[in-house]
Amino acid sequence: MVALIVHGGCGIWLPYAEAAAMAGCQAAVAQSREILMGGGAALEAAIAACVMLEDNPIFNAGTGSVLNYDGQAQMDASLMAGHSLSFGAVGAIERVKNPILVAQKVMEETDHNILVGQGAVEFARQVGFGDYDPRTTERLAEYQMLRANVPAGEIKTRRFSTAHPEHAHICGTGSVTTGTVGAVALDGDGHLASATTTGGVLLKLSGRLGDTPLPGGGTYATRYGAASSTGTGEYVMKILGTRQVCDLVAAGNSMQSAIAQTLSQIHSLFAAETGMIGLDRNGNIGVGHLTPDMPHAFFSGESAPIARIRI
Ligand code: ASP
Repeated sequence: MVALIVHGGCGIWLPYAEAAAMAGCQAAVAQSREILMGGGAALEAAIAACVMLEDNPIFNAGTGSVLNYDGQAQMDASLMAGHSLSFGAVGAIERVKNPILVAQKVMEETDHNILVGQGAVEFARQVGFGDYDPRTTERLAEYQMLRANVPAGEIKTRRFSTAHPEHAHICGTGSVTTGTVGAVALDGDGHLASATTTGGVLLKLSGRLGDTPLPGGGTYATRYGAASSTGTGEYVMKILGTRQVCDLVAAGNSMQSAIAQTLSQIHSLFAAETGMIGLDRNGNIGVGHLTPDMPHAFFSGESAPIARIRI
């Protein structure tokens, strides 16, 4: 039994971009389905899906990442193998094309789990990733439009954000919020893997890490289940949402129920905009989101890929 599910970020997708978001997710599933059908590993399939989604500028990951308060694309990415609990991540990394591939190198070639900031960039260069500017024309225009209204020297404190709600949660490339991507895979050996990658939240402070690079935050995988999350990372990380999903599955809950319970908790604690996907070791899929939309696509067993903009 092999299976795979991907998401393209919870939030609100503008009607003109819905088809493109679903097509992007579907293409990533179709490609990784071939890998899994051909005997490839879950981790390989999850990474390949994330690379394809990072390279698609409609999503907020890799090329097309949203820009931070300083106009840079600082990206977070992580991956985890359920059978070994191997984990790798990068946080606030700049000027690389595929952060998920750098996270893979952190996992495979260092004694560490997470590298951040300039250290992550230097590591990326040392292991062969060239300089690449992931900022698109659309993201730069979006940034310039929003930043034009901010007085020079203004620091983005909570007080500032409360006074200027127009500076939060507005993205231009088809999604009104988000666009983070993630993939969860089950391979023929019964191994699960999860991977998640994002540009984070628009106009975030330089150096901000979301849930995406944290084990149990954006990404988690065990022998029993694996999950990837999207949404306001400041909340997901406080309850270690994907870890909780995997624990609930290990305790006998279905993946769908585990995700529903976890999102319900996030909703009642924080009313936060979040979403999750997951798979259990039998290929059962779980999907949930607290936002109007979350493009996703999946297949399980012999089924052809199915894409949806919302559940
Ligand atoms: N979880 C991501 C973050 O907080 C953003 C998102 O998925 O919308 O960086």
